[in-house]
Amino acid sequence: MTPASRPDRPGPAAAAPGRPGPAGRGRRLSDDVTLAAECARAAEDLEGADADTILKWAVDRYHPGLVVASSMGDCVLVDIAARVQPGLPVLFVDTGYHFPETIGTRDAVAARYPVQVLTIQPTRTVAEQDAAEGPRLYERDPDRCCALRKVTPFEVALGRFTAWASGVRREETSARAGTRVVEWDRKRRMVKVNPLATWTQDDVDRYIADHDVLVNPLLYDGYPSIGCAPCTRRVAPGEDPRSGRWSGTGKVECGLNLGED
Ligand code: SF4
Repeated sequence: MTPASRPDRPGPAAAAPGRPGPAGRGRRLSDDVTLAAECARAAEDLEGADADTILKWAVDRYHPGLVVASSMGDCVLVDIAARVQPGLPVLFVDTGYHFPETIGTRDAVAARYPVQVLTIQPTRTVAEQDAAEGPRLYERDPDRCCALRKVTPFEVALGRFTAWASGVRREETSARAGTRVVEWDRKRRMVKVNPLATWTQDDVDRYIADHDVLVNPLLYDGYPSIGCAPCTRRVAPGEDPRSGRWSGTGKVECGLNLGED
């Protein structure tokens, strides 16, 4: 796929034959119970398994109803996904506020890896949001801004899938410390897999070096955690890597990774 190829309107996806389909297609609540129980069993069985094995488990059960989420920081999970199942969809939410380096990383991912990059955009452009809500909503109400520009478009896009994979790691924040390798995302009625949940930053750095993984250049320019430009600042060496996100507001998550049971 070339960098210019941006399938903003992805085609239909479905669960593997014989598996419950996406929640948005009238899936029965009894199927939710089955999926949630499957998540609980898999979380125990796969705790301690390597990331390839965890993602392969999800591919075997849910592909083509599985999608990988990426914020285009380090592309470790994309690299693993491209090896485990070439052609997997990778979901990226273009909020309209990203650093140019992040958009460039998205384009480089689409050019280099055999994955299907799905770029999702909010209903309103930044200019339209400014007109409706007033300028710099991210300063006045970042939760609402994230809901409008990240979480809602993301959830609309997820609605066609049965399972999604995230690159969150337990050591990143206290809110993520309890992350299981497989979870039931109750809010979205989806299976969520977290193949990197047990990884440390050293594990990430080693994998990037060993596999020559594509990374957002800002990671090596003082931005160990990268979000939208207005809400991300450089951090000093030794500072909490996520302290540059929504700095001084008390906000620590955009909401994409909240919703697990
Ligand atoms: Fe808005 Fe900031 Fe959230 Fe981006 S990170 S959606 S700019 S509040």
